[in-house]
Parts: sequence; C-alpha cells; structure tokens
Amino acid sequence: MAIDPICGMPVDAASAPSARRGDEVAHFCSDFCRREYLRRTAGRGAVFREVRASRRIAYFSMEIAVDPRIPTYAGGLGVLAGDTLRSCADLRVPIVGVTLVHRHGYFEQELTPQGGQEERPASWSPEALAQPMEQVVAVEVEGRSVTVRAWKRDVFGYGGYVVPVLFLDTDLPENSPPDRRISDSLYGGDDATRLAQEIVLGIGGVRLLRACGYDGVQMFHLNEGHAALAALELLREQNQDRKGDWDFLGTREHCVFTTHTPVAAGHDQFDYGLVHKVLGEPLPTEAMTMVAGRERLNMTLLALNLSHYVNGVARSHGEMSEHLYPGRSIGHITNGVHSASWVCESFAALFDRHVPGWHDDPAMLRKAVSIPAAEVWEAHAAAKARLFAEIARLTGRTLSADAMTVGFARRSTAYKRADLVFRDVERLRALGRGRLQLVFAGKAHPRDEGGKALIRHIFEMAARLGNDVPVVYLPDYGLDLARLLVSGVDLWLNTPLRPLEASGTSGMKAAHNGVPSLSVLDGWWLEGCIEGVTGWAIGADQHALSEPAPEPEADSADAVALYAKLESKVLPAFAERERWTPVMQHAIALNASYFNTHRMVQQYVTNAYLA
Ligand SMILES: *Cc1c(COP(=O)(O)O)cnc(C)c1O
Repeated sequence: MAIDPICGMPVDAASAPSARRGDEVAHFCSDFCRREYLRRTAGRGAVFREVRASRRIAYFSMEIAVDPRIPTYAGGLGVLAGDTLRSCADLRVPIVGVTLVHRHGYFEQELTPQGGQEERPASWSPEALAQPMEQVVAVEVEGRSVTVRAWKRDVFGYGGYVVPVLFLDTDLPENSPPDRRISDSLYGGDDATRLAQEIVLGIGGVRLLRACGYDGVQMFHLNEGHAALAALELLREQNQDRKGDWDFLGTREHCVFTTHTPVAAGHDQFDYGLVHKVLGEPLPTEAMTMVAGRERLNMTLLALNLSHYVNGVARSHGEMSEHLYPGRSIGHITNGVHSASWVCESFAALFDRHVPGWHDDPAMLRKAVSIPAAEVWEAHAAAKARLFAEIARLTGRTLSADAMTVGFARRSTAYKRADLVFRDVERLRALGRGRLQLVFAGKAHPRDEGGKALIRHIFEMAARLGNDVPVVYLPDYGLDLARLLVSGVDLWLNTPLRPLEASGTSGMKAAHNGVPSLSVLDGWWLEGCIEGVTGWAIGADQHALSEPAPEPEADSADAVALYAKLESKVLPAFAERERWTPVMQHAIALNASYFNTHRMVQQYVTNAYLA
C-alpha cells in the first residue's frame, strides 16, 4: 500500500496511476490527483502561499467545478468556472473564486433499466476537502440575520501559484434549521430558496471577502446573473452616506458581467413581492426598477446595468445578447476549456513528446499537424480502449473497436435534443448497421420532466436498434466520465435547437483529444467549424439572429441534414484512415490551440479586467 500524496488515501501501488519526479515515484487514487501532483510539483522551489491582500479580481459563480470529488456543479457553467480558475492559476492571475458550498451537491444519477432517472444527494464534506476560514459575516434573509462562513480550497497552477476558492456555507449552529439548509443544494428548492442562495453568494460573498482580508479586490466578475446581488452590495457600500441620487457609475467601474443564456426566458427573475419579503428593500423602489426591471427583478438586467463590461460567451451569442438588450454594448469572449485538464493521458504523453510546453501555452498545439498520423491514431486507440472498458464495467456491453463511435453527453434538457439522431430510427439503422454505435450520458434537472423523458426515449430507441446500431447510456455524467468520453469516442455530436446554444464546450474538449465534431452551426461551432477540416456542420449557417423555425420543422430538417452528412461524408471519411487522421490533427491544431481557457482568460484580462 502507498499513500496518495494529494488526498491521503491508501492506494495499491501495483495498479494505481503513478508519476515520477526525480528519484521519487508517487501513486495516486485517481488521474485527477496525479494531475494535481504534477501541477504542484512543476515549479520547483515555488512558494505555495497566498497573499490575500494581493488579489485584484473576485470571480463569483453559483457553480465552480474545482475537483471531481466536490460535486457543486450541474453542467457547463460550473465546469467553465473551474477551468477558468485553473487557467488563472497557471497564468498567475491574482483572482479569488466565490461560490456556495452546496453540501448535498447537485445530485447523483441512477438509471432504471427503462431509463428512468433516480436522484440521490451527492453529499461531500468540506471538512475533509477544504480549510475552514475563521471569519463570519451576516446577511439578512426574510428579515432574519443569517451567519455565513467560508471554506477555502486552493486551486494550484503549474508552477505552484495558488488561486483560492471560497465556498460559502450557512450550516452553522447559530442559524435556524431552515437557514442552515440555504447553502445545501445547487438549484434545489423554490424561488425563495433560490433568492436566499443568491443573497448568500452575492451579498455574503462581498462581505466575506472584506472580512477575510481580500482588501485589494478591485474587480468583481459576475459569472451569470446568479451573482448580480454582489453588484447591489457594492452599490450599497459606496452609497452608504448618500441620500437620494445613487452613484451607479462608481459601482460599474468595478464590475464585469458574463451572460450565458441566449433567450430572455432563461434569465433568473423574481417577483418584487418575493424580493421585498426575502431581500427587503436595498434600493428605493424607483432606483430598483430602473436598474433591475419594471415588472420583476431581472438578475441579468441588474448585472448588465451595474457592469462596465458585459460579454456573451461566443461571437454569435454576444450579438444576440445585444439584440435582446438594445442600446447596450455587449462584447464577446468565446469560451474555452483548460487544456491540461481535458487532454487524456495518451494524448498528454503524445503532446509532451512532440509539443513540449503545451501545458503553459496551448497555442503551441497548432504544431499538432506535424505529429505523425500513426502516433495520433495510436493515442486515440488507447483512449478508446479505456472508454470501452468503462462502458463494459458500467453496462455489461462490449462495443466494437472498429465501428465509428459517436459521443453525446450534456445536461439532458429539451433544447439540446439528445434524441434528434433517432428521429427516423429506420434510416439510422440502415445507414449505420454494423459500422456505427452511440454513447450517451447526461443528467436531467430533477424538475425537468422533458429532460427525463429524453433519457427514457433514448433507452427505448436503444432497445429497438438492438445490436444493429448499439446504443449505451452511461449514468451519472461528471468530470471523470466526461474526460473518458470526449477522448474515447471517434466523433462528438451536438444537435441543439438554434439559436439556444450560447457556446457549448464539450466539443472543445473533444478537439483537444483529436476528436472532431459533427454539430449544428450554433454557439462556438460557428467559429470552430471548417467543413471537412476540423469536423462537419449539420445544416446550413443560419444567422443566429434569425428566429428559430418552429420546433417540429427544425427537428425534421436538422435530422435529414444529420443523416445525409453522416452517410455521405463522415462515415466514408472514417472508413479511410488517411482521410480521417488529418481531421483529427486539424481539430487539435486549429481548435484546441484556440478554444482553451488560457486564451480566454487572457482576453478577460485585457478586454474586461483592465478595461
Ligand atoms: C463540459 C461539460 C459540460 C458542458 O458541456 P456542453 O457541451 O457545454 O453542454 C457539462 N457537464 C460536464 C460534466 C462537462 O464536463
């Protein structure tokens, strides 16, 4: 038995992942701990010490995926937040993350044989995985004083630079039982609970940063509208002694807002009746309705009006957001993923050999075009074997190593249309028999009946296709499963209903492992798709501002385009190795080199934080 130097768990040295530094060999419970170790030990002699007063930027997000054992994320928003902070740590950006502790996490998904989703709490223990901070602050919820404290978990960059993340917690003996549960469940509970959580995150977050000595924070980045109350707290701070006219400009200088939702209906909104009851009246009514919306408190509007820089998460999404809020200037910074976190073991070894330095500067991955095709294919075959072993373990099914394996994994919700590929199931059987197989994963929000129905529908279709076109659905999609999937399939499929995909990031993870995308032209794919070079488009490029077609029509048109592209272009290319591997190389060289959070964070620094 050896001891994992990161998490302290006993591991079997014979079978556990390992890493060598000089003469020392360390063994790990998981690949995650192995990466963490490599990061921490990369900068020999670096001092892993955080000077709180030197932090300049605070990053507020309702979800931050810091570690697979900390399940405080539901999907893309949280994974992006985690990747952002990992890149900040590598790039030595003096930032501090602020989120909620969500002791019961999002949830753990189990699936019945018919594809029924069952949910169990995904509890984690901050006592075991984070450090307690001594300081506490109070916020007011429904007229009661609620005490908030924080747990700190450090994110280490290559070279040892530390980015702290504060997980805010109301589970303290001085709070009443219902108040102790405010910070328990991500997106659980009713509107009142949701608003209480946003009070803790935004208002509690600003107060705790002050209390804990983060005195140098000049810029507050609100990642999605959930964090908008942080701006309201800054406004209150700055106007404590004023009566009447409020200095909005003073607050705007210090706030940056990133919106993630392309349609107004998706934005967080609360009735003013509820707002008065839960939040009170932080601003006179007239000022409040001016900055936050006439009818209801709209968190997007509030954040938009109190920030000097606002952006969408892909070019088309920025343009759409400007359309939604006429007269506002809304920029765009296209999302990315943290390269070193999403490149699988076999590709990491390949890049280490051919593109040394890619961790620190993923733009160098453009050199991937010169990596010998045979080595690219070999690295992919290793990733595919790892995924197939996991599929066999989880489902008992053995997939064929030769058939083209298509991956689709996302939050299961109507607009993502996970079942679009089954729209004409006999057509799919005919074109794919014996040479195509599909792997799915994804959780539906516990109250999203449409999302749950999608999963059951995929199970039905899987049964109908039998062994002609094998279909598996893997339970409990999370960071570890995502890494296996995006590297182990041959093709990444994305079929959102236009224009609802603000960006999407899983296709970027796939590209980092040489896996091309076949996707509707929406979100990031409008920028990333070079037809036949980095992957393929489903259907034509309809300008994002156009109204979406009524759903049934869009569905059938997109399904027809999907089958046509699969049959005429993608499957024939896959059948010839010398046609397929250049697409893999270009996915890495053209897309991984750009759609990464190192580039993204550098754009936030120059366009938003220093602007
Ligand atoms: C990347 C990721 C997502 C987001 O994927 P999209 O393509 O943006 O929908 C969701 N969940 C997990 C676990 C992920 O790793």
